[in-house]
Amino acid sequence: MNNDIYVVIEHLRGQVADISYIMLAAGRDLARETGGKLAAVLLGQNAQALAENLAADQVLYGENAALAEFTSDAYQQALAGLISENQPRAAFFGSTTIGTDVAGTLSARLNIPLVSSCSKISDGMIVSQICGGKIMAETKLADTTTLITMIPGGYKPEQGRGGPPEVKPVPVSVADLKVALNQYIEPEVADVDITKEKVLISIGRGIQTADNIELAQALADLLGGAVSASRPVVDQGWLPTSRMVGKSGQRVKPKLYLALGISGAPEHVEGMADAENIIAINIDPGAPLFDVAKYGVNVDLFDLIDPLIEAIEAAK
Ligand SMILES: Cc1cc2nc3c(=O)[nH]c(=O)nc-3n(C[C@H](O)[C@H](O)[C@H](O)COP(=O)(O)OP(=O)(O)OC[C@H]3O[C@@H](n4cnc5c(N)ncnc54)[C@H](O)[C@@H]3O)c2cc1C
Repeated sequence: MNNDIYVVIEHLRGQVADISYIMLAAGRDLARETGGKLAAVLLGQNAQALAENLAADQVLYGENAALAEFTSDAYQQALAGLISENQPRAAFFGSTTIGTDVAGTLSARLNIPLVSSCSKISDGMIVSQICGGKIMAETKLADTTTLITMIPGGYKPEQGRGGPPEVKPVPVSVADLKVALNQYIEPEVADVDITKEKVLISIGRGIQTADNIELAQALADLLGGAVSASRPVVDQGWLPTSRMVGKSGQRVKPKLYLALGISGAPEHVEGMADAENIIAINIDPGAPLFDVAKYGVNVDLFDLIDPLIEAIEAAK
């Protein structure tokens, strides 16, 4: 085993996912601890241009027609070969649908440890969220190659430092695939595109009933924004799926994300951690969203909305 740190770059339809840039920032911290190189692992077909903004010492580029579109099967085969041959100290994956699928199965396939939901590397320890962020667990790197899935929130995304990195083509072998991409199914056209809104008033289970959504809507109207939601609100049928923020919803980057009664589970944070200003309103002082928020207010949201509306109206 060597001391190098791999970051497996997640990309889809020509776009590098933000989690890849976050992982590169975390990988840089860990490489400093281990004394190894930081290598971005980029798999695809004709995807070399995506290497340009990757802030790594080196990009290991695996080109193969079977990797033109993501399938877990092809990624697992390519990475199993690469990791067992080169034995890096650790390999990062996004804690996303793609990353958890590949990392979990690779861990079983190669019989190596997996540390999941890592948010930070601190003094050589990997800090992970468990129980939806209510408990933080610290783990030391094992004495063998370790896989890590990374959640957003602990690092600012890091893009290209000092020009394009060195790209080193690496052989990847992929054969006898059992899964192939048939087609992309585009999401239904939304009434509001929350990914384009500058202001989002986002509601969670703390909003309690569908009738209370009008309070959030009043605030959104006043600030020229839209109402978005966590998954339980959408699962109840109170808002359409197009308003859901998170792993199974939309990734949003508004200037203001005001979260009313949202706990801050990793699956939600994945979709909003890149908002410019996050304000969390919650009655629970231990709500994990306070760790991601720029400002936090530990109050009952129903005591806050009316005075807030009055204050904004007065200030206008
Ligand atoms: C595979 C998978 C994918 C998922 N994808 C998503 C996703 O895309 N998006 C997503 O959001 N979730 C997703 N989830 C669900 C996620 O794990 C959480 O369950 C969900 O985000 C919790 O939503 P919440 O914060 O609204 O509810 P809760 O976790 O129940 O939190 C409600 C919060 O409201 C606070 N509260 C209650 N009353 C008040 C009040 N009066 N005033 C102020 N605060 C109050 C509470 O203290 C609590 O913190 C996914 C889960 C899985 C397993």
